[in-house]
Amino acid sequence: MKRITVLGTLVLLGGLSIAVTAAQQPAPQPSVDNLTVEKVKDNLFVVRGGGGNTAVFVTATGVTLVDTKNPGWGQPLLDKVKTLTDKPVTRVINTHTHYDHVSGNVALPGTVEIIAHENTQKLMTEMNPVSGLGTTPNVFKDNPGKGMPKRTFKDKLTIGAGADQINLYYFGPAHTGGDAFVEFPALRVMHVGDTFPNKGLPIMDKSNDGSGVEYANTITKAVNGVPNVDWLINGHTPAQTTPAEMKEFAEFVREFVTTIQAAKKAGKTSDEAAAAWTTPAKYKGYAAPNADRTKAYTAVIYAETK
Ligand SMILES: [Zn+2]
Repeated sequence: MKRITVLGTLVLLGGLSIAVTAAQQPAPQPSVDNLTVEKVKDNLFVVRGGGGNTAVFVTATGVTLVDTKNPGWGQPLLDKVKTLTDKPVTRVINTHTHYDHVSGNVALPGTVEIIAHENTQKLMTEMNPVSGLGTTPNVFKDNPGKGMPKRTFKDKLTIGAGADQINLYYFGPAHTGGDAFVEFPALRVMHVGDTFPNKGLPIMDKSNDGSGVEYANTITKAVNGVPNVDWLINGHTPAQTTPAEMKEFAEFVREFVTTIQAAKKAGKTSDEAAAAWTTPAKYKGYAAPNADRTKAYTAVIYAETK
């Protein structure tokens, strides 16, 4: 009897201590030990932690990184890459302008080629506040002349050939106005950045030329326009997803947008429309709506809908 009581107390204390830790846990400090690696193929890895998911593509001549994480995480990322290959980082591709995908750029040697969509190059000189989030860090202001893309593309760019080939695509506005899709055709893998960040309502960053109304159309074009892909690397998921999951995500976004547009047509205010939104049960494994985020992107759709 006594033994059971003691156990019960321990469990309770354990539960409390977990709850307290979760509530007070500070963000992990920039450190190579706070990054994890997932091997996708022999020459393709995903480094997770410290911001958006980074793809590490090892080619015959050097390493290409897709996205470079939060401020302070560039050097830990480079240190992590050293545990995977002896080859130097020679190229960075930024999927879009957000600080949690580009800030590590400033830690790179000046010899590294940085590539982005032409709209993202422009947006990175501005680092506008993100719709729904407000002001975000701007490492480029503190590191003048460092980390900016010098090479850009408009609709499609092919780099390298054979096993080392990379295709970059742009299909229109969605998460931002410069979302790049990065295909590794020999591996049948594509990094889709934050156009499909995870299973939940995405940021529709009108302040950086993104679009709520166009979002589903744009990502449907991407998933249909690059058909020979088996796996996707997403901006913020803990594991890879499939093109079929991205098609479902596009339908989820489309349903959100059409529901909000119908509410506007019915004379509801933006906040009323946002408050009425719930995630339809058919979208399994999707995050419950975050009230602030729903409000912010409902307002984006109201502004875009005449
Ligand atoms: Zn983003």
